[in-house]
Amino acid sequence: MHTDVIIIGAGAAGMMCAMQAGQRRRSVVLLDHASKIGKKILISGGGRCNFTNVNTKPESFVSQNAHFCKSALSRFTPSDFIALVKKHRIAFHEKKLGQLFCDGSAQNIIDMLVSECEDAGCRFTLDCKVENIKKEDSFVVTTSKGTFTSESLVIATGGLSIPQIGATGFGYDVARQFGLKIVETRPALDGFNFADEDIREMTELTGLSIDTVVSANGASFRENILFTHTGLSGPASLQASLYWNPGKSLSINLLPTIDAEEWLLETRRSGSKVELKNILAEQLPKRFAEKFCKLYQPSVPISQLSDQKLTELAQLIHDWKVKPARTVGYKKAEVTRGGVDTNELSSKTMEAKKMPGLYFIGEVVDVTGQLGGYNFQWAWASGYAAGQYV
Ligand SMILES: Cc1cc2nc3c(=O)[nH]c(=O)nc-3n(C[C@H](O)[C@H](O)[C@H](O)COP(=O)(O)OP(=O)(O)OC[C@H]3O[C@@H](n4cnc5c(N)ncnc54)[C@H](O)[C@@H]3O)c2cc1C
Repeated sequence: MHTDVIIIGAGAAGMMCAMQAGQRRRSVVLLDHASKIGKKILISGGGRCNFTNVNTKPESFVSQNAHFCKSALSRFTPSDFIALVKKHRIAFHEKKLGQLFCDGSAQNIIDMLVSECEDAGCRFTLDCKVENIKKEDSFVVTTSKGTFTSESLVIATGGLSIPQIGATGFGYDVARQFGLKIVETRPALDGFNFADEDIREMTELTGLSIDTVVSANGASFRENILFTHTGLSGPASLQASLYWNPGKSLSINLLPTIDAEEWLLETRRSGSKVELKNILAEQLPKRFAEKFCKLYQPSVPISQLSDQKLTELAQLIHDWKVKPARTVGYKKAEVTRGGVDTNELSSKTMEAKKMPGLYFIGEVVDVTGQLGGYNFQWAWASGYAAGQYV
């Protein structure tokens, strides 16, 4: 079969690219090895798909080249996607921090994209295993469903996260095959695991959630952390895992809304004879206050603690250093950090500079968004950008 465009990967970016190209009257076929379209969209946002973030800005993304995403993001904005969602009468709401979710199921977003693709004349070939790609006069893609040829080939196969629903490193292999560099890939937006000895120490905290500011590698996030049986989860931990580098510590501000030094010193000066763990439990969960005392200061009446000791404890409260062993890994990660090196691609078209006609879009590219709808916005924007040129 010959078409103008072959898109490998019928996920978020692939379908956006297909519908744009189809609307330009390009003939498009989407190939996907999955038997169902949009599995990752379906599980996104807890099943309601956090499909964009109204506060999207380039600073919300991590890449070796921080400027690369700007062009595509400026040409397809959250408002453009919202207009599409409204056109399909999909009810949605803002949950927090600019994050837009479907009121109903993420399936609404999949149905919307499929119907736009079909209206634009695009064809889907599912259960399709790609066996080989060659560039002759055109691209030749050999698959379990026959041979496809095209002028343009778009790789939209996403990242490595959640292999159990079909994520593969296929896109990176194609990039390497055509001589493109890959920025080291890592699971991200997955939270942290403690080292074994810390897991034993912290196990009593499992289930506790604390409103904090978590900082890693210069980025800070004010949201909850959640202690799990192996480490840290919760939105602030997930966000920090995008920025954290192995071997480094996180800094956790356990009481971001008060000055802990002033509070502890004043409590002592008021003549309080209450034990430290009970004082701390006024502002922190009781189990955490007890653990904090066990780790750093046996709980005695606060009146017995010196100014210097209270100042040290306040510093620990505002800058609690935690050294994770690793992030949780691809089985839980929402995204893959790293990917096809943006230096290899045109920021206007997503086309490979070394291989005209070959495009990379979506998560396979070294552009990774923070938690909160940013990764879909990148998928839409990069898919839209390529869709104008393929
Ligand atoms: C649990 C979870 C929740 C998430 N929630 C959100 C959220 O609410 N908001 C947000 O912005 N982001 C969220 N994300 C991230 C978001 O889903 C991805 O960043 C986004 O789907 C990437 O789009 P993509 O088109 O690049 O890749 P995908 O949507 O992953 O699509 C890739 C497609 O390629 C196909 N494919 C893979 N390998 C091959 C192969 N070898 N041959 C043929 N086809 C192949 C796959 O089957 C898939 O259909 C979430 C991720 C996860 C894992």
